Amino acid sequence: MRIETLAVHAGHEIDPGTGAVTAPIYLSTTFERAEDGTVSKGYFYSRLGNPNRAALEVCLAALEGGGAAAAFASGAAATMSVLQCLAPGDHVIAPIDAYHGTTILLRDILGPWGLQVTFADMTDLDEVKRSIRPQTRMIWVETPSNPLLRISDIARIAELAHAAGARCTVDNTWASPVLQRPFELGADLIVHSTTKYLGGHCDVLSGAVVAKTDDAFFQRLRTIQMQGGAVAPPFDCWLVLRGIRTLPYRVRGHCENARKIAEFLSRHPRVEAVHFPGLPTHPGHAIAAGQMRDFGGMLSFQVRGGKDQALAVAAKVRIITRATSLGGPDSLIEHRATIEPPDTRTPQNLLRLSAGLEHADDLIEDLAQALA
Ligand SMILES: *Cc1c(COP(=O)(O)O)cnc(C)c1O
Repeated sequence: MRIETLAVHAGHEIDPGTGAVTAPIYLSTTFERAEDGTVSKGYFYSRLGNPNRAALEVCLAALEGGGAAAAFASGAAATMSVLQCLAPGDHVIAPIDAYHGTTILLRDILGPWGLQVTFADMTDLDEVKRSIRPQTRMIWVETPSNPLLRISDIARIAELAHAAGARCTVDNTWASPVLQRPFELGADLIVHSTTKYLGGHCDVLSGAVVAKTDDAFFQRLRTIQMQGGAVAPPFDCWLVLRGIRTLPYRVRGHCENARKIAEFLSRHPRVEAVHFPGLPTHPGHAIAAGQMRDFGGMLSFQVRGGKDQALAVAAKVRIITRATSLGGPDSLIEHRATIEPPDTRTPQNLLRLSAGLEHADDLIEDLAQALA
């Protein structure tokens, strides 16, 4: 089945008790056992398993074409759980421009527990290769990257990982399974902040890990999910599953708006640079064209001048909202450097934009008046 059909049907069943077409939300924390003491209907205690979570996990595995999925309370919890499957002394190669929370988990939280990490420029395959050590067990990929939309070659990095006896994990949050198919490119694990495009409405915080195969590594992850307890609550699972039903169509709108905005900005005299992989001038354009179905709903741009000029543009938008995050119906603009640490690599005149689902012309007019 195609992804549009999977998005509507995977994980959805008519409720056998009532015929309800949309699943109820199972808030019960505990489940009755049979007279002989067995767990007759598959559920026992909701940290270990819940019908809404199980339905979402079925859907996520189907969407990504994986063997199994585990839903977490946030994208950060999903990332943390994958890293906790590694052992002290193991080495991870991660992008220099990884999602900031991922960098903190690797460097400040798991570093003291003995996990070794090298941050590498993932767009430079030689640098990735040079970073490999005998203890390397995982290469972490995030493409397109935040906030410069840099593109890494998933297939080539997965090959390097496998040659070194390591797993390749792709944070597929920014692309979504509609646009980028990491398992087909050789990845072993996919992480999502389902807070973004999958939830799709800026009203639910959640995350997921999808494994290509339901192997021993995934079983360890499942144990960490159930016993570590960072599980996604039933209502959150219900909201994400509901969001996914319209994902493929929403993503088309996000992509179309981002492309039109990027084209407008790239012609604007007050804009110094536009970072959008759909522009032929973008350094990752060719790789993105090969590994993505479309170029996504995220872009960033640099305003001529500096930090003050960029902040002034963000201050003047009327339809677009000044806020962090991405993937919802509202277009969001953010001066990234303000929320990043002082040693950030993000240019001070950069604004990041999550193209929402408003009409592209209204968004362009809003940016035009803010840049005027
Ligand atoms: C938001 C985000 C995360 C973290 O997800 P949360 O749901 O906020 O915990 C991880 N990776 C990427 C690429 C993100 O955009």
